[in-house]
Amino acid sequence: MKRSFFMERTIRTRIVILGGGTAGWMTAAALAALAGPLCDVTLVESAEIGIVGVGEATLPHLRAFLARLGLDERTFMAATHATYKLGIRFEDFGRLGDRYIHPFGSYGQPLNDVAFHHYWIRRHRQGRPGPIDAFATGVVAAEECRFAPPSPQADDPTPSFSYAYQFDATLFAPLLRRFACARGVSGLEGRVAHVERCASSGDVRALILADGRRLEGDLFIDCSGFRSLLLGDTLAEPWEDWSGWLPCDRAVAVPCASPPGVVEPFTRAIAMPAGWRWRIPLQHRVGNGYVYSSAHLGDEEARSALLAALEGPAQAEPRLLRFRAGRRRRSWVGNVVAVGLASGFLEPLESTSIYLVQAAITQLLEHFPDPCISPIDRQGFNRAIDAEYERIRDFLILHYHATTRDDTGFWRHVRTMAVPDSLSSKMALWRGAAQVERYGFGLFLEPSWVAVYLGQGIVPDGWDCRADVPAADGLDRALDRLAAAVRARVAAMPHHRPPGGDA
Ligand SMILES: Cc1cc2nc3c(=O)[nH]c(=O)nc-3n(C[C@H](O)[C@H](O)[C@H](O)COP(=O)(O)OP(=O)(O)OC[C@H]3O[C@@H](n4cnc5c(N)ncnc54)[C@H](O)[C@@H]3O)c2cc1C
Repeated sequence: MKRSFFMERTIRTRIVILGGGTAGWMTAAALAALAGPLCDVTLVESAEIGIVGVGEATLPHLRAFLARLGLDERTFMAATHATYKLGIRFEDFGRLGDRYIHPFGSYGQPLNDVAFHHYWIRRHRQGRPGPIDAFATGVVAAEECRFAPPSPQADDPTPSFSYAYQFDATLFAPLLRRFACARGVSGLEGRVAHVERCASSGDVRALILADGRRLEGDLFIDCSGFRSLLLGDTLAEPWEDWSGWLPCDRAVAVPCASPPGVVEPFTRAIAMPAGWRWRIPLQHRVGNGYVYSSAHLGDEEARSALLAALEGPAQAEPRLLRFRAGRRRRSWVGNVVAVGLASGFLEPLESTSIYLVQAAITQLLEHFPDPCISPIDRQGFNRAIDAEYERIRDFLILHYHATTRDDTGFWRHVRTMAVPDSLSSKMALWRGAAQVERYGFGLFLEPSWVAVYLGQGIVPDGWDCRADVPAADGLDRALDRLAAAVRARVAAMPHHRPPGGDA
C-alpha cells in the first residue's frame, strides 16, 4: 500500500462494491481487514439475481488469503464443509486411459542448480522406466488418499508440497459477509437499476437502486459476475474473446451423494467427448459438472452424460451455466475496478478463478487509491492482471492442445488448432531442452508446467547438459533413496480426514 511522503491522508475513500458473490465478499472482507482505516465500504447485492454458486475447487493461495484476514482454517472448513486438496487428477487428456496428478508442490530437489526434472528426463531417455510422480510427495499422498499438513524440517529430503481446499461455494460468501460486516462494511440488499456518471470525466458517480436509493462513491468495484454491469455494460470496455483457443462455453452442474470410504484429497478432471467433467469431493457431498463446447454437444446430451456418470443419487436438478472464455481488455477503467467474473473467465479446468479474484484484491491493495485515482495506479494494476490472465490462458490451452486424441470432433479441433505464439514458444523451449519459461510471481510456476507437459506425454528430446554430470549408477541410487523417502513420509500420514468430516 503506498503513501505519499508529502501529504498526510485525511480523507477516507468511499468504496462501493456491486455484487455479493465470492468476489464481492472476498473484496469487502480484505478491504475491511487490511485497509479499514482508509476507506468506507458499502456492498450491494441482490438475492433476486443470486450468485453463480459454483467454484468449489481452489488453489493454495487461498490459505494465505484466509491467514491475512486472520480467519482460522478449522472455522473456515467447518463453515464451508471443506476438504483438503493436494492437486488435480487429469484423466484421459493426453490419451484415452492416461492419468496424472498436477500436484501443488515440486518434483524432487534441484541438484547443482539444475531442476530435478532434467535428471529424470535423462534417465527416462536412457531407458530407465518409472513415472516422475514417485518423486512428488503431493502426488504419492493424493494417490493413497493420505493427508497431513506440510511441516518442513531441516533434515527432510522429500520434496515440498502444499494444499488447497474444496468447499461448498454457496457457503463461502456468507462466512465472509459475517466477517466483513463485523468490521464495518455496510451490506445492502437491492437491485442496481441505473448507473449515474459524471458528464465530463465519464466516471461513475453513483449507483441507483430500483427502490430509488442512491449509493455515491469515489471508487466502484464491479463484482456483478458475468453481467459486468459497470465495466462491461456501463463503460463498454471491450471484450477480448479467447474462445477460439478455449472452446468450452457451457457447463451443467449437479451435486450427488458421497460414495462410502475415504474422501479423495484431490479434484478430478475427466476428459469427455466434448470437454471434461469435474468431480469435487466435499465433506457432505460430491460436486460434479460437465464443461463442454456447445459447438460439439447439445445441452440435453451433456446433462444425460453427467447424470450417467454420477456415483450417487443426484441431490438437485442439474443447472446449466453459459460462459465465454476471455476477459475485458482492462480490468480497471476510470474509477471502476472489476474483480471476479465481471473482469473475465477462463473456464474452471485449473480452478483459477478465485485465485484471480485474490490477485486483483492484492493488486488493488498495492495500488490503494486516494479518492483521486492516479493513472499510474490503474496502469500498474492492469499490467499485473494482464500477465496473470495470459499465463493462465496458455497453461489451460496446453491441457487441450497437448493431446494425441482424435476420437471426437472436439479433441481433433483442440489438437490441431493454432495456439497463441506465447504458448508455441513455451512448448518449443520445453520440447528442445526441457526448459520452462521462468517468472517470479503468479501462476503457474515450473513444477506445474512439468506436471502437465509430462502428464500429457510431451517428453523433451534434450535436457540440461549439467544433468549428465553424475554417474548413472550414483544417480539411480540417489533417486531410489528419494523415492523411498517420499513413500515413507506419505506412509506416516493419516488417511484424509477433513476437520468436521466423518471420512
Ligand atoms: C461452471 C463453473 C465452474 C467454476 N468452478 C470454479 C472452481 O472450481 N474454482 C474457482 O476458483 N472458480 C470456479 N468458477 C468461478 C467462480 O464461480 C467465480 O469466480 C466466483 O464464484 C466469483 O463469482 P463472482 O462473485 O464474480 O460472481 P457471482 O457469484 O455471479 O456474483 C455476482 C453478484 O452480483 C450481484 N448482482 C449482479 N447484478 C446486480 C444488480 N443489478 N444489482 C445488484 N446486485 C447485482 C449478484 O446478486 C451477485 O451477488 C467456476 C465458474 C463456472 C461458471
